Amino acid sequence: MGRKFFVGGNWKCNGTGEEVKKIVTTLNEAEVPSEDVVEVVVSPPFVFLPLVKSLLRSDFHVAAQNCWVRKGGAFTGEISAEMLVNLSIPWVIHGHSERRALLSESSEFVGDKVAYALSQGIKVIACVGETLEQRESGSTVAVVAAQTKAIADKVSNWDNIVLAYEPVWAIGTGKVASPAQAQEVHCELRKWLHKNAGAEVAASTRIIYGGSVNGANCKELAAQPDVDGFLVGGASLKPEFIDIIKSAT
Ligand code: PEP
Repeated sequence: MGRKFFVGGNWKCNGTGEEVKKIVTTLNEAEVPSEDVVEVVVSPPFVFLPLVKSLLRSDFHVAAQNCWVRKGGAFTGEISAEMLVNLSIPWVIHGHSERRALLSESSEFVGDKVAYALSQGIKVIACVGETLEQRESGSTVAVVAAQTKAIADKVSNWDNIVLAYEPVWAIGTGKVASPAQAQEVHCELRKWLHKNAGAEVAASTRIIYGGSVNGANCKELAAQPDVDGFLVGGASLKPEFIDIIKSAT
């Protein structure tokens, strides 16, 4: 089964209203492959979601960077999945390593958040990835498998999940995984899905790479058979994001 290339832009906690409008203008003016070839999803900070959604071209979509693990209520500072549904926000990112590390989100918590978002009809970009220490100790595959299992334990339908392999040592560091390193882990993740979620899930689930992807390194990474796209941080705020989208072809 063909897997449509997926390019996500994670804007993190960056930007003013004016800067956000500028990025959207650049995206709107870009000539990129059609929606049949590449799915583009940008993820502004919460406060800019309605603005971006209202200005962004209709063939690109938006994602929230997080949402609460259960139904909304007395959870100060949180945003609920129901609110995202209310604003017609189709995607959310869960399991980003910055939230795992800085906000102590456990794999089990991430699994619960993925499951709740899906139950509300929101599609999920679910992130997994090892630290440098874990890679150097040879536990990369075990770590990403355990993080994926925590999600698989809570969901039975993978149709609306994109799995993002994001080695922590490559995020925001300028140290990109080599195409061979990315392919190796993506292939292992696909094998894991095959064994634990079934052949169809393994064949159809997009596994995208994130970690210092830029306009210069995206082509070689995109050429790997199990790399189905990217989750881009820093470079998604710059015009080179267009080149990354174009690496779909
Ligand atoms: C990210 O935060 O998801 C990411 C991949 O960041 P960067 O591209 O800046 O490494």
